[in-house]
Amino acid sequence: MQGLMMDYPLTMERILEHANRLYPRKRISTVLPDETVHRYTWADLHSRSKRLASALEGLGIEPGDRVGTFAWNNYQHLELYFAAPCIGAVCHTLNIRLSPDQLAYIISHAEDRVIFVDATLLPRFEAVIAGLSRCPRIVLFNVKPGIRIDLPDAIGYEALIAGGSDSFEWPANDENAAMGLCYTSGTTGEPRGALYSHRSMFLHTLGVNQSNALGLVESDVVMPVVPQFHAMAWGLPYACAAAGAELVLPGPHLNPAALARTIADEGVTVAAGVPTIWTGLYEALKVNPRDVSSVRALIVGGAAMPRGLIEAYETELDVPVVHAWGMTELSPLGTVSRLQRHHRALPDADRWDVKARQGYPICGVDMRIVDDSGNEAPWDGSSMGEVQVRGPWVIGRYYRQDPSPDHFTADGWFRTGDVGSMSPDGFLTITDRTRDLIKSGGEWISSVALENALMDHPAVTEAAVIAVPDAKWTERPFAIAVRSPNADPVAAEALQALLASAYPKYWVPDRIVFVEQIPKTSVGKLDKKVIRRQYTEGKFG
Ligand code: ADP
Repeated sequence: MQGLMMDYPLTMERILEHANRLYPRKRISTVLPDETVHRYTWADLHSRSKRLASALEGLGIEPGDRVGTFAWNNYQHLELYFAAPCIGAVCHTLNIRLSPDQLAYIISHAEDRVIFVDATLLPRFEAVIAGLSRCPRIVLFNVKPGIRIDLPDAIGYEALIAGGSDSFEWPANDENAAMGLCYTSGTTGEPRGALYSHRSMFLHTLGVNQSNALGLVESDVVMPVVPQFHAMAWGLPYACAAAGAELVLPGPHLNPAALARTIADEGVTVAAGVPTIWTGLYEALKVNPRDVSSVRALIVGGAAMPRGLIEAYETELDVPVVHAWGMTELSPLGTVSRLQRHHRALPDADRWDVKARQGYPICGVDMRIVDDSGNEAPWDGSSMGEVQVRGPWVIGRYYRQDPSPDHFTADGWFRTGDVGSMSPDGFLTITDRTRDLIKSGGEWISSVALENALMDHPAVTEAAVIAVPDAKWTERPFAIAVRSPNADPVAAEALQALLASAYPKYWVPDRIVFVEQIPKTSVGKLDKKVIRRQYTEGKFG
């Protein structure tokens, strides 16, 4: 027997209409390139998105067309997050930090019809255009009067939407139609496209707002430091619209001092970013304290949050940390590390251990651990294997790529490429990425565990561990580390002794080399591909 409830398409214009109807006066603030703050409301965003939607149609954009963006986090970018999907087009966010070659490849692969470019990023974008056989139509945000633009046919954003109509009617969108396209940042290979549907993003939005997950509420002031070009800013813009929360968009001002100022000035309650952002903010706050007491959740994901940094935020700054795990392929939210009732009795030290793990799968994400022989591993806290997931906001296949057994199992699960274990109470611990694990003398060593242990030392701000070839043991761990400017220098031998006290002797890297900085990927993660190359080139002696 079938249920008798309505067939209500789960589409993005419903989220936008909801925000406009219920929370029209809630603010969206953007820090502009000149550091002044642009403020408007969800009602303003709604009417300008309608203008933009009708202008997009005027440009000849049709359902299914890809509309590219090359921009910082700002209100114009946010208007595209809504206008493009709401006319059935696909909002394709381009990662501004990729190389011109990678970007040219992605733009050609996606066949973007038009690209909205932040004028402040024009020099970077012009290098990309040189590699394109056919240049899409270009629309520019933030054009300063008098600026010289050499692009033929480029139009200014405000001029474009001035010709649109704010009484534009949304078409009836299909919930299974594509609404967003993000390429993975290529940390472990060539970029691949994840093509979200209205339905998947609508359900992800509800998933994000579960109170066990990120649980945004109407009183929140949310600052996604995570770029809008990284996995749809983790879905936070849509989750804010659904919750009626206010948004603060930091624009190009991502240095720690600017972030500290924005948090204090805007009364940010929830801020989200990768660990390196929060390492920088912590160091900045130590030197130059600011009032960050408004923050009720510092959301961190994209890479493991070192336990020591969680402890420092919670004890020294009184800022609660919410650690989450996800992937572009999961829209991106998969697990959230929140203490459960039975954790509350734990001493603080153990609670931070719990928070440093990746957390439990949110409702809507099924998870299993599969060992080397293809068997499902028990949830016993120690059996390790590949993390596999399925759910309504998990990728079913990559854009314009045949599904391969490297990514999808025959029984319908997505292979994340992460290695981890599940505790009996359902907490995921990510040990490593499959290709970053170190196999020494036949035994596995977790690079992530070693990195975290090194970063827990007060004299170390960042550390990366890679596998290097070894004649006797096949592979050995090798570490690089950055010294903290705020602590007495530590010797490599002292760090080795620290690791030896916590891990088996064969885990201890034979060498720990201090460096000025560690190479990062386009989204701020440790770039192990580059570190491995530097090692091979003899950079570390
Ligand atoms: P890319 O694959 O290009 O790095 P993603 O942002 O999609 O881009 O990265 C997803 C990966 O980031 C995950 O597969 C995992 O390896 C890592 N990751 C994300 N969140 C965490 C976390 N909280 N702890 C450890 N690793 C994480």
